[in-house]
Amino acid sequence: MTIAELLGRLNKEYHIGEWRQRYDPVTELVLTVLSQNTSDVNTRRSFQRLRDAFGSWEEVAGAGVEEIASAINPGGLARVKALRIKAILEQILRERGSLDLGFLRRRPLAQAKAWLRRLPGVGPKTAGCVLLFGMGRPALPVDTHVYRVSKRLGLIDSRVAPAAAHDILEEMIPPQRVYQFHLTMIEHGRRICRARHPLCWRCVLRDGCPSRRDYDLKEM
Ligand code: SF4
Repeated sequence: MTIAELLGRLNKEYHIGEWRQRYDPVTELVLTVLSQNTSDVNTRRSFQRLRDAFGSWEEVAGAGVEEIASAINPGGLARVKALRIKAILEQILRERGSLDLGFLRRRPLAQAKAWLRRLPGVGPKTAGCVLLFGMGRPALPVDTHVYRVSKRLGLIDSRVAPAAAHDILEEMIPPQRVYQFHLTMIEHGRRICRARHPLCWRCVLRDGCPSRRDYDLKEM
């Protein structure tokens, strides 16, 4: 199955529209750090609490680690994340004089990713989320769903590590479809190609999936 066909089928199922900015880039950055190793529900809760507790990200940068940790407490790993968020915001302010990451829109994609990945605790997935969601740039974040479904579909070899999967998958996807690929693969991973019991008989990709038969047999 070609990537175009895969995207066509997934989009028909999940109806992902065009990219629309959800938050500005630095807000996406904070949100993505909060989401690390945390459920969506707890991420939303801790993000809201953090926004309620502070008037701006500059205020968060100037706050104490304990104060930030207590605001994000429901998110788990609160102290580690508080340290990380504070260190990231401080570093951006020190280097750029503001928290405006708009300058990354004008940098070549590889340079923009590299700039973000120098920040404390920022790996390829977090950098990808900032560039994709915050700026509409074609950087592909590979989360647990994208990674699992891509491996089952044979888009990447099962031995490829998540960090390496970012560049491999990104090269396969036309830049204007990266946003759609990311979101439809997540939806597919959540609803159908689940980690434990993938629903292969309901899968729109089943005729092109090399993992289909094993999972079918286990289910039946
Ligand atoms: S056929 Fe099964 S294993 Fe393959 S993508 Fe669909 S749900 Fe996942």
